[in-house]
Amino acid sequence: MKFSGQCLCGQVSYKSYAEPVLILNCHCEDCRRSTGAVYGTNVMVAEDQLEIHGKVSTFSHKAKSGNTMTKRFCVNCGTLMFGNSSGRTNVVSIRAGTVDQTEIINPVMNVFVDSKISSTPINNDLPKASEMPEGEPWKKD
Ligand SMILES: [Zn+2]
Ligand SMILES: [Zn+2]
Repeated sequence: MKFSGQCLCGQVSYKSYAEPVLILNCHCEDCRRSTGAVYGTNVMVAEDQLEIHGKVSTFSHKAKSGNTMTKRFCVNCGTLMFGNSSGRTNVVSIRAGTVDQTEIINPVMNVFVDSKISSTPINNDLPKASEMPEGEPWKKD
């Protein structure tokens, strides 16, 4: 196992058998509203490497991109745990605040900074994009 996590009440937990493929800070309105925080930090992992225990409920909505986004919550405490996009196969986005091993949370980029709340501080050493960037600009050659 590489890392684990759980919701506020502990009824939903998970284990990831792979390292995150990508960690992004997302300032989009959907992340803000769904997390209730001023931005979301998303830990992406291969879905087939993630083992989930406990009961979740789901909510689906359309993103501006046209993709269907499906979010999963603990049925008991309501913690938002996971997100999937119809535009990405075999990738699940885990909400970073639910991860147990907090030292692995090292975002590589800020995205949707055009939607950022002006008072939200960001690390200007990291690359940023006005929306979701094409390609993989966080990869340094
Ligand atoms: Zn819970
Ligand atoms: Zn977002």
